[in-house]
Amino acid sequence: MTSINIKNVSKSYHNYAVLKGLNLDIRDGEFISFLGPSGCGKSTLLFCIAGLEDITSGSILFDGRDITGVSARDRNISLVFQDYALYPHMLVRDNLAFPLRQQKLPEETIRRQIAWAAEMLGLEHVLDRLPAELSGGQRQRVAVGRAIVRNPAALLMDEPLSNLDAGLRVKTRTEIKRLQRELRMTVIFVTHDQEEAMVLSDRIAVMNNGIVQQFAEPMTIYREPANQFVASFIGSPQMNFLPGSRTAGGHGDGRLVGVRPHDLTPLPDAGGTDGFTLTGELALIEPAGPVHYLDVVVGDQIVKATCNDPASLRLGERLTLGAPPNAVYLFDRESGARI
Ligand code: ADP
Repeated sequence: MTSINIKNVSKSYHNYAVLKGLNLDIRDGEFISFLGPSGCGKSTLLFCIAGLEDITSGSILFDGRDITGVSARDRNISLVFQDYALYPHMLVRDNLAFPLRQQKLPEETIRRQIAWAAEMLGLEHVLDRLPAELSGGQRQRVAVGRAIVRNPAALLMDEPLSNLDAGLRVKTRTEIKRLQRELRMTVIFVTHDQEEAMVLSDRIAVMNNGIVQQFAEPMTIYREPANQFVASFIGSPQMNFLPGSRTAGGHGDGRLVGVRPHDLTPLPDAGGTDGFTLTGELALIEPAGPVHYLDVVVGDQIVKATCNDPASLRLGERLTLGAPPNAVYLFDRESGARI
């Protein structure tokens, strides 16, 4: 398949800078997610890679070759969108055949490729149906089938699971991952859903305001966030941020202390930890299956913590929470930079 290098890429609409000097080196066969809030420039970057948008400066390389001026048609990239964009009047079989017929391939080759894609995606029994006769999940699979049927250099997906219900999203993302592994295909997957990016990706590019905030493996981003934005965007429930002066050990003003709810748990009465501690009033216990979430009021702030067994806890009691030292992060309050 294909390696993709993004070198100092900027993109402006009139005077409005959407992408601000991005650099990413994507390896052949990697599953990459572009993750960030709505409007941060994920789709714009995807479209620049596909050739559907021109870049204002910088360059994009496929397998070391500069394709910046090459038309979308000649980049051999496939795109899958949220709304599937299937041809409603064509049978599934003809939807799958469409990109191959455009390439004027022999009918025998087309038949073989359709059979291969249909088997890969479990679509054999719906080939002679119209898109309207399929479930949402099946339509999504046809869209993926149409994208892979011509062996693209890379598969680019823009929020492809957003129209599916929660259960089907989880099932479909596993299928996409399996498919990518089997085909060893370079995939770029745009999402605003941090969990989706975590489970799918070899590496995640976390974006905000047209800038890549961090580009690393999922657990590196979770455990070693580059800054407060990344720390707050990854992980659910969100990381707690407290003014340094409020915490035991007082890290001083001008700093924020970050600690994830999953790392923060009630300490036994006898207390005693070499890590981080915090005392407040227990306001809420939320059962969440494998753990319980706790809301603890510390000053004017609610801190989220977790515990496995809340049987001995009473609402309104004073509770001391602790986290191991390696699960406590410091950020500059002004810049958000990790200290
Ligand atoms: P995301 O995919 O992260 O939600 P987009 O890449 O779609 O973000 O958009 C990034 C920013 O660029 C947004 O502020 C959007 O309004 C702006 N934008 C996107 N396309 C255009 C366009 N054709 N003209 C002007 N502004 C645009």
